[in-house]
Formats: sequence, structure tokens, C-alpha cells
Amino acid sequence: MEIEDWRDRYLMESKFNVARLVGEERREGNSLASVSRHWQGEKESFCFVSPHDDDVVLGAGLAIQMAVQEKVPVHVLVVTDGSMGYCTLDEKESIASIREQETYNSLVELGVPKENVIFLRFPDCQLGLFVGRRLANDEPSAIEGFTGLQNSFTYFLRQIRPTQVFVPTINDLHPDHKVTNEQLQISLFHSTGDIWPELGPPLDAVPAIHELAIYCDFPEPPTLRIASDETTFEKKLTAIAAFKSQKQIAKLIENVRNAGPQEYVRTINFCFYQPETYHHLFQDSKYPNQIGR
Ligand SMILES: [Zn+2]
Repeated sequence: MEIEDWRDRYLMESKFNVARLVGEERREGNSLASVSRHWQGEKESFCFVSPHDDDVVLGAGLAIQMAVQEKVPVHVLVVTDGSMGYCTLDEKESIASIREQETYNSLVELGVPKENVIFLRFPDCQLGLFVGRRLANDEPSAIEGFTGLQNSFTYFLRQIRPTQVFVPTINDLHPDHKVTNEQLQISLFHSTGDIWPELGPPLDAVPAIHELAIYCDFPEPPTLRIASDETTFEKKLTAIAAFKSQKQIAKLIENVRNAGPQEYVRTINFCFYQPETYHHLFQDSKYPNQIGR
């Protein structure tokens, strides 16, 4: 079926169409709840982690609106302070605060309240220096006397207590995106453990984690497709346009508009080491040439 066909067919009665692939199964519905087997109803809470202010709006502007429509609380963590994003010399000192205001303006457009937007204020383009956790000096990113991405992620995961977390794919070329993805994944496990008790009480379960594609393809094919009607799509484009200090934004809007009202998401399945996984490789019946014994 062509893209235009399924959009016309499914978006007549609803703002959204969602399709999810689980193994051999394909589920389709008008809401995330309708395609999720483990949906937790009122317990659901989403956290979108954005290395830079505009990333999750670009990659999940429809998904965020859909969650808001389903009355799922949505929080957004913006990891960097945007201080390297000045396009005029006038804005070199003020760009970080300009971008924080633009972020509020953008996310309000998608239905995310100001109090659910959290700035971690790590220095833009320098996330590689903030891997892990260490004693803080005077960094704006300090929490409970420590800094580092694992410190902030663990703290806010325990505060927000999300059931599902979204982050740009590790395939993105920008080092800030790669570092955010990797540090968030390990922090999901820290947040459920007993370590660092000053950062809050542990979560009951590891939240589900999903990747968003911003600039590069997914490392493996996505498992969820969200399509929307034109009005919802226009809101996403307006939300992207809120980042007006970023002179390249017009080009990005053009790209998103040309791609149409659809987003893809990939759920990450952690593969925990189990020796049995490799048992079959060493069975002697597999090898015609046996040496020894
Ligand atoms: Zn980015």
C-alpha cells in the first residue's frame, strides 16, 4: 500500500494512526495504548531526552502530541545548554538563555507544560567530558554535589519515574547524541538500583527505552510508526520553527515537511548475557572434523 493510501484510509476518523511490529505480529490502532500489550494505563509516564533543544521536536513532534492527547504525562530533558549554537556574534553570550525560551515556546505548542521541561545545562558540544559521575566544582549541571551525565540522568529518572524513555539513536553522527544515548542507557539501570541514594529512591522497574531518528538512519529497523493528520503535522512544524535563533532551521523544516506526517521509533531490547545462548555453537555433532577426545 502506498503511503498516501494508508494515510487517507486511517486518518479519516482519528488524528493518529499507529502501527507496531512485534516479531511476526503487526498491530494497528489509533493510540499507543491500542498497540501496546503492556500498557500501564494511568501509570504511564514518558520522558523524552533531547541532547540539544530541538532534537526531540524534530524526531518526535507527533509522538509527543499523541502522548499528550492520550493524557500521558510528558517530560522533556534538554541535556546541553545550547551555548555553541550562536549564528551572530551579538548572540554569543546570550544564546543559551534565548534557546531556553525558544524551547518553552516550542514545547508548549506540542502541549508540554513549562514545568515539565528540564534543562540539565551541560556545556554544548562537550558532553564527552561529562561521561560518568564525579565531584562537582561550580558547574551549573551539579546535583547533590556531583556532576556528570549519569548523575543527572539517574536523579531525573528517579524524580520523573517514567515508564517509557525516548532518545535519539546512537547512530547519529553528532557526538553529543551518541554520548547521551549511551549514558542514558546505563543510567536506566543505575536508577533502579540502590546506589547513590542521595539521588532519590530507586525505580521499581527499568523503563522501556525507544530510539528516535533525527539525522541518521536507525542501527536496526524501527518497530513503531506514528502517522498524523495535517493539523497535528502543522503544529509540529510550528514547534520546530520556534527555534528561530537557529538560522538553519528553515532547511530542517523543509526536510520534515517533505518527509510528511510520519515518525518512526525503534524499541531497544537489551541482550543480557546468558551462557545458554552460546551452548549450541559448541555441540560436537555440528562439526565433522573433531580433533582430540
Ligand atoms: Zn542535536
